[in-house]
Amino acid sequence: MSLIKIEHLRKEYPNATPLKDVNAEINAGDIISVIGPSNSGKSTLLRCLYQLEKPTSGKVFFDGTEITSPDCPIDFIRRKMGMVTQSISFFHNLNIIENVMTAPINILKMPKQKAYDEGMELLKRVGLAERALNSPSELTEGEKQRAAIARAMAMKPEVLLFDETISSLNPAMVAEVVQVIRKLASEGMTMLVVTHEMNFAREISNRVFYMDEGVIYEEGAPEQIFDNPGKEKTGAYIKRLNQLNLEIKNAGYDFAGFTSELERYARDLLLPEKLIKNIRLVFEEIVSQNLVPYSEVYYNEYPIKIVAEMTDTDDRLRMNINYSGMQYDPTEGTVDLSAVIVKNIAENVNYTYENGINNIDILFKKAA
Ligand code: ADP
Ligand code: MG
Repeated sequence: MSLIKIEHLRKEYPNATPLKDVNAEINAGDIISVIGPSNSGKSTLLRCLYQLEKPTSGKVFFDGTEITSPDCPIDFIRRKMGMVTQSISFFHNLNIIENVMTAPINILKMPKQKAYDEGMELLKRVGLAERALNSPSELTEGEKQRAAIARAMAMKPEVLLFDETISSLNPAMVAEVVQVIRKLASEGMTMLVVTHEMNFAREISNRVFYMDEGVIYEEGAPEQIFDNPGKEKTGAYIKRLNQLNLEIKNAGYDFAGFTSELERYARDLLLPEKLIKNIRLVFEEIVSQNLVPYSEVYYNEYPIKIVAEMTDTDDRLRMNINYSGMQYDPTEGTVDLSAVIVKNIAENVNYTYENGINNIDILFKKAA
């Protein structure tokens, strides 16, 4: 029998119906990555499972018990499931170990000493034993996420729900948190993980739910969903998770080939023609006309690196260009043609120079 059964789950808000008819069976030991565009109801699904939200209709069963029933005590749900969210609320007047001990003492009626011993054990497991007596505000974002995992684990849940736990973290902290989640996975914890990180999803999960149009639009093994999606919309979304990486190693690079690669990437994303033209224009003016001749003497040490990707929050194209050499910003000024072009086309341009590396970040306007 499945551990969690979701039947015709529906959630309506006054202005949106993020969940129309969600059906799923989750087995003990499943590690499910929940992916999908923003506003597709991923958070709402987790909140409805954890009963932070009351579904409009439909049922959720946990081990055969209907947890959506008004007769189901909330403590039953809090013992079975733990939730780790991006906006973590700690009790700020309590230190970390006290935060971890609170629920076991209040809900499980655990003796203080036992709650302390088990809490310290958990903090050790997430690498935070030496932070036990700190207040939540003294922790880094990565440490806070790990403390939140320890706090959820203190209830000895059978299922853990993660809502974009790692998406707000910088790469170094992502690694720390991923390591903890990976360890839980290897211990057989059942997990639902909302994430944009495709490699992470691929590595840890055995199933992927792609959410769209108020339903689990497509589900399958990670290899199937990411490499061979069955539906057009799933495919389009997966493409948006992909980055395009170009490297120019010398002035004799294949200009036509690179331009058409950029174009193909943008076309695959179904971007408007005007925007595709602008992307090509930026490549021609900034990279080809300015940076390629400028970088000539530096190629041996460091190529020009160009990364294009869609932002996952507001669905815009971002292009990042970095190159070595002296400080040189071709997007600066009001006279130079390339500077004028970029200013017209971009929503936002950010130039930095650090450790001998020039970095230009261009966020394109949606269609311009
Ligand atoms: P996702 O996590 O996939 O980005 P959400 O589940 O957060 O999507 O939101 C889905 C939709 O439901 C959005 O249109 C959002 O505005 C709406 N929504 C979510 N929570 C509430 C709420 N508490 N009140 C009103 N509308 C909400
Ligand atoms: Mg969300």
